[in-house]
Amino acid sequence: MPELPEVETVARQLDPQLRGRRLSSIEILDAKLAGPDWDSLRGFSIQRTFRGGKQVVLEFSRGKLSRFLSVHLRMTGRLIWVPELKGRLADPQACDHYQYKVPISDKSLRARFRLSGGELRFYDQRRFGVLALHSDPAGFASAGVEPLGPDFSPASLAGMLAGARGEIKPWLLRQDRIAGIGNIYASEILFACAVHPRRSAGSLSPAEQKDLHRHTVRILKLAIKHCGTTFSDFQDSTGSTGSFQQYLKVYGREGQACPVCARPLERIVQQQRSSFYCPDCQH
Ligand SMILES: [Zn+2]
Repeated sequence: MPELPEVETVARQLDPQLRGRRLSSIEILDAKLAGPDWDSLRGFSIQRTFRGGKQVVLEFSRGKLSRFLSVHLRMTGRLIWVPELKGRLADPQACDHYQYKVPISDKSLRARFRLSGGELRFYDQRRFGVLALHSDPAGFASAGVEPLGPDFSPASLAGMLAGARGEIKPWLLRQDRIAGIGNIYASEILFACAVHPRRSAGSLSPAEQKDLHRHTVRILKLAIKHCGTTFSDFQDSTGSTGSFQQYLKVYGREGQACPVCARPLERIVQQQRSSFYCPDCQH
């Protein structure tokens, strides 16, 4: 499942490709995606593509009107820009995009947005992805604070942690607290902070809270710089991006030597999710 850095990567890749393109028609091929008044988007042009929490958001406008299309990729959703070359659509397999190892097929094509110069396609083999249309940005805003935005500060984090119950690792995954941190990055962030995943979220010292803020921002930015983490279900078609897995220190490394103290790393399960950590370095 893509986390914040992977979604950011998709949005950054699509933005220059889609900017300024005018929508002429929409074809919804999956009844699950029916619902929004898709035809109301006709004649709108794409202003920009960005990340909102863990969603890719396309901002459309026509005159003074704005519309926002939000896309939750979930397990296997993919947005692919298919340009038109000499009046013919390019081969989607050959297009520049993030792709899952499952090859894209006409069977997993769920929606086509016809734009000037080509079309944006939504493929989703497992059909967990969600498309929604909003006239107000509040419609797709996440409940939690954006970790790379101005509202995430050492002070705001300390405020959220004050009196927090439960273990810190599951707490980091709560999208109504910090939006966008997923399972991979939560383990990496806690290792960087030397905080045990089972620690009570409310027990972190002021110094640990500061570290948590600093390493959250640092690790997410580093992952974005490397275009996210490529696992079984997320890879770039060119193989040139999505390389953050080379920088993972604990995630998926159970039994391997801790990069700091060389003791074998351990894995525990918290709320049905694996957590990886060093029993010596993290307290
Ligand atoms: Zn260690």
